[in-house]
Amino acid sequence: MSTTEQRVAVVTGGARGIGAATAVRLAAEGRAVAVIDLDEAACKDTVERITAAGGKALAVGCDVSDEAQVEAAIARIAEELGAPTILVNNAGVLRDNLLFKMSASDWDTVMNVHLRGAFLMSRAVQKHMVDANFGRIVNLSSSSALGNRGQVNYSAAKAGLQGLTKTLAKELGKFGVTANSVAPGFIVTEMTKATADRVGMDFEEFQAAAATQIPVQRVGRPEDIANAIAFFTGDAAGFVSGQVMYVAGGPLN
Ligand code: NAP
Repeated sequence: MSTTEQRVAVVTGGARGIGAATAVRLAAEGRAVAVIDLDEAACKDTVERITAAGGKALAVGCDVSDEAQVEAAIARIAEELGAPTILVNNAGVLRDNLLFKMSASDWDTVMNVHLRGAFLMSRAVQKHMVDANFGRIVNLSSSSALGNRGQVNYSAAKAGLQGLTKTLAKELGKFGVTANSVAPGFIVTEMTKATADRVGMDFEEFQAAAATQIPVQRVGRPEDIANAIAFFTGDAAGFVSGQVMYVAGGPLN
């Protein structure tokens, strides 16, 4: 690729929360951004924020756990925006419950979106990265990878993403591709609001209680995570690969 050509980034789960902030941030870094979410119409706000600021973006409806949809989405992105060489596997769901109450279907849903989704997206995008001899993959892990009550499915998936990341780094490094994980702590999004609702707490009180346990004494914002992802996806981060960065306002136990 010539130095003037715009790199194409794919952000899954980009309709809201961390994915939306990341898409906007990567566009501000000069990337053309494919904003993927389950519902293409739901990506409209993110795309409009990018185009209103003078950037280039494409809304793409795709279930990341569906092999055919992933292949079709990446083919469409390559056709309409150009070959994708930056991938942020961010799409996620929660199906929290204590082990004895967790259904096999809630286990499967979480594994399919986080792990199968990241696998399918990485496999679909890697050929473009290998052809370009350049690539950046960032997988969203979580502080829950270290274990979290009520999240046996989610914590296993988020720990699994760290293993996926390290293996991608080892397999793809010789093609100029890096892979890293960003593991957020408490970030204010619909996902943490759903957790507050589940435990019957007002969301503001839930955030205030969480902040007291965080060394920097505040909860995170989606932009805090987008900043870390911008670093890992940058041209300057080519010697940083296979790493897990916890972005949680302090060290975790
Ligand atoms: P969010 O607000 O719930 O956004 C997740 C997005 O992913 C939603 O737009 C959702 O679409 C989309 N999505 C779900 N399943 C999908 C699928 N199969 N295919 C395509 N898109 C799908 O979540 P968030 O808080 O921004 O979290 C983003 C990522 O960070 C997740 O991987 C999450 O596990 C991770 N994380 C978050 C926190 C936190 O504190 N918020 C902490 C650690 C890690 P729908 O609305 O249609 O479901």
